[in-house]
Amino acid sequence: MKAEVLLPKVFNFPFTYNSNNISLKTGDFVEIPFGKSQEIGVIWKNKNIELNKNIKIKNISKKIEGYSLDQKLINFVEWFSAYNMVPVGLVLKMVIGNKDNLIKKKFNEGFRKIKKKERKYKLNNEQKGALAFLELVNNKFDVSVLQGTTGSGKTLVYFDRIKKIINKNKQALVLLPEIFLTNEFKSRFEEFFGFEPAIWHSKITPKNKRIIWKGIIENKIKLIVGARSALLLPFKNLGVIIVDEEHDTSYKQDEGVIYNARDMAISRASFEKIPIHLVTSIPSIETYNNIQKKKYRHIKISKRYNNYPLPRTQIVNLNVNKIKDKFISDETISYVNNFLKKKEQVLFFINRRGYAPYLVCKKCGFKQTCSNCSMYLTFHKTKNKAICHHCSLERKIKSKCKKEGECDYIMYGPGVEKIFDEVKKIFPKNKVEIFSSDYTNKKNQTISLFKKIKNNSIDILIGTQMISKGFNFPKLNCVVVVDADFSGRGYDLRTTEKNIQLYHQLSGRAGRFSSDSLVIYQTLTPKDLTLNELIKNKTEELLKNELILRKKNYLPPFVRLIAIIISSNQYDLSIKGAKEIKIQLKKIDNIEVLGPVDSPLLKIKKKFRSRLLIRFNSDALVQKKITKLLNCLKISSKIKLTVDVDPVNFS
Ligand SMILES: [Zn+2]
Ligand SMILES: [Zn+2]
Repeated sequence: MKAEVLLPKVFNFPFTYNSNNISLKTGDFVEIPFGKSQEIGVIWKNKNIELNKNIKIKNISKKIEGYSLDQKLINFVEWFSAYNMVPVGLVLKMVIGNKDNLIKKKFNEGFRKIKKKERKYKLNNEQKGALAFLELVNNKFDVSVLQGTTGSGKTLVYFDRIKKIINKNKQALVLLPEIFLTNEFKSRFEEFFGFEPAIWHSKITPKNKRIIWKGIIENKIKLIVGARSALLLPFKNLGVIIVDEEHDTSYKQDEGVIYNARDMAISRASFEKIPIHLVTSIPSIETYNNIQKKKYRHIKISKRYNNYPLPRTQIVNLNVNKIKDKFISDETISYVNNFLKKKEQVLFFINRRGYAPYLVCKKCGFKQTCSNCSMYLTFHKTKNKAICHHCSLERKIKSKCKKEGECDYIMYGPGVEKIFDEVKKIFPKNKVEIFSSDYTNKKNQTISLFKKIKNNSIDILIGTQMISKGFNFPKLNCVVVVDADFSGRGYDLRTTEKNIQLYHQLSGRAGRFSSDSLVIYQTLTPKDLTLNELIKNKTEELLKNELILRKKNYLPPFVRLIAIIISSNQYDLSIKGAKEIKIQLKKIDNIEVLGPVDSPLLKIKKKFRSRLLIRFNSDALVQKKITKLLNCLKISSKIKLTVDVDPVNFS
């Protein structure tokens, strides 16, 4: 008997082996000789491939007992591969992870289940209604959206939902957009469920991965909280998937295997024939569109959990009394003082790491740019270096001036460190700390900073985008957006959508436990329409307008896009390669091929990048045709192709 074996490697097809009289079925794990080594593979569907009689077929060495993959998961793996244009073997690799997961013997490795005392939570009437709504559909595929302002207690609603499902001996998966969120989440989780959650993301230890992987495939672990990759775990009896913060663009993986974990979670739910709940305070534009089209069910919680009102908002016009290189206005200072007097916390938000985003020599005009990327270097004061935020190149800022001596730099623009300096000068008696990825690389640093914030031993926090996500600081009642800019510069069709989400999230950090809280938007464009609708909390209007614009400009969700990025060490080769590929792509019916254009960031990590954009309007899986065509092309080894289905980032 012949058997087709798929290897967890970069192949788009299975290999044929002799079954060696072992009884095998699709999904079984086997050990096989491959090249010079023994590998692990999975028995894949028989596709009746014509065999070349001259090739000697090897025997399967043995079957790995105790585990197998379900047909549902196999179907999902094939769909994932076809949709995202990724070799099916690579998707299988994401399912299996390290092969030690399968072959390492168990030494009483079990998942620690610390029993804690469950705290009883009581849902308010709105939450109860939302829970009942989610519970309407079971045991079949159904997408529903649980929407609620920050602080409305959405988490408790879906926790309750999960509890009932795992009590029926089924498994549940909760996806979160960021790994660092999970620490905050963990304690709330333990209080509710009375046990420690199994947390899955790329940075947990191989041993923990092994324990969790086995627990999942043996149906012993009932509940996983994880980042993107948890979506491909080999669940045996999945009952529900929750995608928390579904609007978060971190669900899009931009490197390696490129995919959108939220969208793939919906596909997985459909293959598993189970319900999936998308949880958000403002839905993404795609989700909003699907709610409008009644493809997704939708329930909204409008009150905050403890009935505290949303923060007041105030626009501060930065054009008035602007002092050079000062970023915090007198008007803002007086608002902030009111909160500091009450011993309440204030957050200054600036979405730029480092001290200043541009360094220009005032004598010769020399600008510090990255030698690998088409990017300005950002000056980081603590390191006293200029750093590229794309490739992390670090450079000393001393350089020989074309005029005489060394260059003498002006530091243009604000970064989080510059705002920190300015705030310390304005409020010398207050405790000020920075919250930015450069300062919170280590887990302990983050935890100790959180403790200080919760103990109220910090008065003022200066933070980047990291801070906008999901944190719960009881004494934080005033947020200052240092530079509220809706001008939409950038290379991203989602700039407006991202800003709506960002500022909404941010304002949700304030006034969780207070009836008097304030969000201040400092801006050079106080009349901006988006900003003004945002502060009136007219997010629904904003999404509606954005949809109209998208439709008018032939953008998703009204069309589908696939980006092809052609990169090379030489600019000529990337653009030439792109042109050749375009000629080939044009043979496919009913697609439009735009470009090639230079990427807005032409050079990243020493590679020049040209982009093609494929636009089409059908629900059919055009990807299959494109993959087939690309696989047949003879592509020079000097250029590299990257395919990004449903691109989010256009840099
Ligand atoms: Zn760089
Ligand atoms: Zn100079």
